[in-house]
Amino acid sequence: MIENLGNRKRTHSCGVLRKDHVGQSVTLMGWCARRRDFGPLTFIDLRDRDGITQIVVNQEQAPAAHAKAKEVRSEFVLAVTGDVVTRDAGARNPKLSTGDVEVQANEIVILNDARTLPFQLDASDEALASEDLRLKYRYLDLRRPQLQANLRLRHRLLLEINRYMDEQGFTQIETPILLKSTPEGARDYVVPSRVQPGKFFALPQSPQILKQICMIAGLDKYYQIARCFRDEDLRADRQPEFSQLDVEMSFATPDLIYALVEGLFARVFRLVGAELQTPFPRFTFAEVMRRFGSDKPDLRIEGMELQDLSSALAETPFAPYAAVLSTGGEIKGIVVSGGAAMSRKSLDELQEFAKRYGASALAWIKLGDELSSSLLKALGADKVIDLAGLAGAQKGDAVLIVAGKAEVVAASLGALRIEVARREKLIPENVFAPLWVNEFPMFEFHEDDGRYYSMHHPFTSPLDEDVPVLERAVNGEMQLFSQLRAKAYDTVINGVEVAGGSIRIHRGDVQSLVFKALGMTEETARARFGFFLDALSYGTPPHGGIASGIERTLMVLVPTENIRDVMAFPKTASAQDLMIDAPGEVDQKQLEELHLKVVTE
Ligand code: ASP
Repeated sequence: MIENLGNRKRTHSCGVLRKDHVGQSVTLMGWCARRRDFGPLTFIDLRDRDGITQIVVNQEQAPAAHAKAKEVRSEFVLAVTGDVVTRDAGARNPKLSTGDVEVQANEIVILNDARTLPFQLDASDEALASEDLRLKYRYLDLRRPQLQANLRLRHRLLLEINRYMDEQGFTQIETPILLKSTPEGARDYVVPSRVQPGKFFALPQSPQILKQICMIAGLDKYYQIARCFRDEDLRADRQPEFSQLDVEMSFATPDLIYALVEGLFARVFRLVGAELQTPFPRFTFAEVMRRFGSDKPDLRIEGMELQDLSSALAETPFAPYAAVLSTGGEIKGIVVSGGAAMSRKSLDELQEFAKRYGASALAWIKLGDELSSSLLKALGADKVIDLAGLAGAQKGDAVLIVAGKAEVVAASLGALRIEVARREKLIPENVFAPLWVNEFPMFEFHEDDGRYYSMHHPFTSPLDEDVPVLERAVNGEMQLFSQLRAKAYDTVINGVEVAGGSIRIHRGDVQSLVFKALGMTEETARARFGFFLDALSYGTPPHGGIASGIERTLMVLVPTENIRDVMAFPKTASAQDLMIDAPGEVDQKQLEELHLKVVTE
């Protein structure tokens, strides 16, 4: 029953037929999404990447086609020739772009059959099969219209980026995948060398060093849609390999980079019909942390900023709060407008939620008809009313309060701000709220190994006025490390960091200082980055750049919270490809050639 394609030609896709086509004879090719039998009439929904067209097969008019239609099962591949006709008024389907018409089949050709599918493709989002099963059969999952649309949007995004960067005078330069460690704070994926026993390439976490070398090479304006590889704990918005628009320019100032990136995002967001307001508002890291408890605040949410309540509690006899304040901690709150109506159960849930971010407790005040608060007993009604007033709460509102170390207060209230906004449906749809965050700290301290790490990466320049402070810090005044600010900036849209970059260090002496600050001896720095320190000494122009995650940007454009929705062949949270079963084992001979031995315990 399977027939050859022969010379048959597709005349239209399954998504384009409209009333204007009525009367035309057409040939469509695609998959059977659904077949319904009504005695002398059989209906087939024929699907391709563009859409679905209803095919109707009439026993009387086309007996052979009708008989053939009876053999058709889900996902059979068909070529259908027939006439475009108007659907009866009652049979129109406004949900389909082709819903005003149908194709009355004269001929049906079965180009291929299909086994029964392991899961249903047209299930609603909630009824979809488990993601693991869908990833194992990714080629089936990808047939779903939403994923098809996402991949086409991805293509258009890449095209738009290429056009824009070309117009702006940038040259696309490809850099190698087999490289040496280029640190971005994650582990490297390494590749053993066969010809150099015991040596390894590292896959680039980003092309950072190479793009800077392009500046030293006088290439002036570089870009690349670069593949990056980072072996790190995966989250919903991370994959071990991903793509980024990687950019570097000579003689760059932050303002030049901001203008370039704002122009780019304005263009890109037009793909989904959105007009971004430029210039984007700018905030320092210190300001966003203070006001929103996050370095990627979602500015679609109005208000709900963190309010400092510490001043009203300076003399408090309440021991837990007194302890927090005497050890340099903070007490802050957010106001939930209308939150007095929140149930005890929701407050308990929010309490658990806050604890996940390290908060020891979540205190609350509700300004309902009656005042109620978890702090009433400890602080008394007057103080509680004081606090609510200081937070800016009005009758009908609630205040959620966290006390603790500054980082914990920011993390938990920052996350609560988003969580409450989600629950209370305070995040408007189809709104895009971009901003810049700059003046990030140069370093962050990791308690586990008691040392400083670059917050961005080790090639990021300190603010000019902070260079002498860096020198003092490296020479022993350790307490100064946490004050150093970097010429680093992130673009944030709707709470997602869609780009990040910095003005780089272009002086060898400053770069050596930063390596030292990171605990590298001169020998280690030379062993790891000697080539780069050498390169810096041959006339390096001031330069800077940025990188924008393609997947993250798409997640905002689509929108989706699952990064796997915007790439063709993603990996699972345990960094596996379930379809091709990777990573896999290699045979003994290959291991020997690579001078490797696998030790399994
Ligand atoms: N290399 C950085 C990253 O991949 C971006 C940049 O600084 O340009 O995050």
